[in-house]
Amino acid sequence: MNDPRVYITTSWDDGHPCDLRLAEMLQKHGLCGTFYVPRRFYDQPCVAPREYEPFGPGVEVGAHTIHHVVLTRGIDGRAEIEASKDWVEQQTGRPCRMFCPPSGRFTARHRAICEDAGFLGMRTVEGWSLDLPRRHGRLCEMPTTVQAHPTPAVRHLRNLAKRRAVRGTTHWLRRGCAVSWGQGLRRMTDVALRRGGVIHLWGHSWEIDAADQWAALDDAFAFLGQACADGRAQPITNGALAELFCGDAIPLKAVSILEDLKPCADPDPATTPTPAPALAISTPVSEDLNPTSAHLGQVRRSPRSLSASRGRREPDRRSRFGLRRAVRRFARAARFF
Ligand SMILES: [Zn+2]
Repeated sequence: MNDPRVYITTSWDDGHPCDLRLAEMLQKHGLCGTFYVPRRFYDQPCVAPREYEPFGPGVEVGAHTIHHVVLTRGIDGRAEIEASKDWVEQQTGRPCRMFCPPSGRFTARHRAICEDAGFLGMRTVEGWSLDLPRRHGRLCEMPTTVQAHPTPAVRHLRNLAKRRAVRGTTHWLRRGCAVSWGQGLRRMTDVALRRGGVIHLWGHSWEIDAADQWAALDDAFAFLGQACADGRAQPITNGALAELFCGDAIPLKAVSILEDLKPCADPDPATTPTPAPALAISTPVSEDLNPTSAHLGQVRRSPRSLSASRGRREPDRRSRFGLRRAVRRFARAARFF
């Protein structure tokens, strides 16, 4: 591929046994995935990080705390974050580059702890984004594009409003509302293939299973996998993406704003970084896990600390017919949600 300016990455949280089925599907379609695995999910043990090893270098394991605790609920976040990194590294024998806060909730303090612990990046639950990873100090913050789960419109709106995600709201209004998540993903991918950017599909394998979304997921993987097979996009793990765009060699200005990207048809080799190799994982073991349905309502909450990045958002220059102004008004009003 001459110009890998479109990146396709996926991530899957909670370490449910269905992860193994999902990893097999990723492998079949030539895609990459990062699995954020806690040691325990509520009172259930999770898949051990070394169980992902047979799926090869396209599958990576990230940390998700030890006990799947929501960091903003008055617990010792430092111990959970640091111990989860150590645990994943002991299990895989490889550096654990990525962290994902359970329920997407964290503060600036937790971001600093992740930085001190040596994580390279943190995946958030911000949706409807095509942005490249955003750098905060030494830590790389990674938004997502679409969650592989039927989600009520009100939750999308709440997620976007809490982050004042103007561009994300525009994407959702134009391409996501009133269609299935699979159709929204296709539309977002079409935009990325024209303009450049990152497609980040994420979700929970236990949710896929509970909502019987396996066929829809297979369709989505086939679509994304074809874009990669055609050389129009580059499959990559979260960690490799963070390394690629938030490494010291990459100028900060070039990494965060979608408008900085040029269409694939107009490559600029001088500014195109070379993709880092995807992270490989190590050896297997299996335990049982029954998902707790209570978790369904937790994954779209807002990390308040994202407000630090709000000032850097730029309006969507492609907005027409006053849509930009309307979205701004909506985002401003939604501050009081
Ligand atoms: Zn989780």
